[in-house]
Amino acid sequence: MKRFTCLSLFPEIIRASALSSIGGRAVERGLYELEFIQIRDFAVNEYGKVDDALYGGGVGMLMMAEPVFQSVTKAKDDFRQIHGEGREKLIYLSPRGRVLDQQKARELSELDHLILLCGHYEGVDQRVLDECEAEELSIGDYVLTGGELAAAVLIDVISRMLPGVLPSDEAWQKESIASGLLEEPQYTRPAEWRGRAVPELLLSGHAARIEAWRQHAALDLTLERRPELLTKLPMTHEEIKAWLEAREQKTKASLPLLPGEQMKKGEKAN
Ligand code: SAM
Repeated sequence: MKRFTCLSLFPEIIRASALSSIGGRAVERGLYELEFIQIRDFAVNEYGKVDDALYGGGVGMLMMAEPVFQSVTKAKDDFRQIHGEGREKLIYLSPRGRVLDQQKARELSELDHLILLCGHYEGVDQRVLDECEAEELSIGDYVLTGGELAAAVLIDVISRMLPGVLPSDEAWQKESIASGLLEEPQYTRPAEWRGRAVPELLLSGHAARIEAWRQHAALDLTLERRPELLTKLPMTHEEIKAWLEAREQKTKASLPLLPGEQMKKGEKAN
């Protein structure tokens, strides 16, 4: 990914997220570009008009086709001037779209330029979506006031997978969902906090056993909360067997199956 261009009436909402923290540093370091186009710059009159009432009646206003079309054209031209031809896509953030997941974000990260169209009010005139061959993408089954928060989410998800943004690819690949599992419970200092102890094994320094504990804990948690994820896991027969045996041992020893059920001082760590 070379560039994200956000088309919006309220770009400051996206800026606040995408230019803070890790994303802000990544842009400063030139790992990708983040551009904003104010759709109102292409208003149809001198009063800044960009929306109008719905044909056929109905509540609210709709963003007009022409200001959006001009914004898309500018985004494409600006990219071409700097980078030449590239793999490019217009995404309209919309509750009608396919729901975003890690795999879709991964596919989009392979492109050179993503143009993110943020709707507001009742949305956008259908004709400009058809004319520009926009793909609709939702961030979940609920309705937001505008596409800006959704665009910020999409930029965040994609950018952290781009080379150099996080210290290593492992940082995101081993996390919940991206790894195929939910992440196991994690702990930091102190080893005991308000009577709750860190599982003893994690303090043992025994790398192989710790790795097995982590994998089994992640599997246990996934089985409990998102069992459907387990059907897609590329696990070997041996790995599944080892996990099931560990669960059986815990059951026999009357230990909690879920590592999240933290131990109070004096209880046995599982
Ligand atoms: N009338 C539209 C409908 O029923 O599909 C909803 C319009 S919504 C109030 C305004 C804008 O917020 C949309 O144009 C879209 O850009 C954005 N939006 C709302 N919910 C979203 C979601 N779940 N995912 C992505 N964008 C969303």
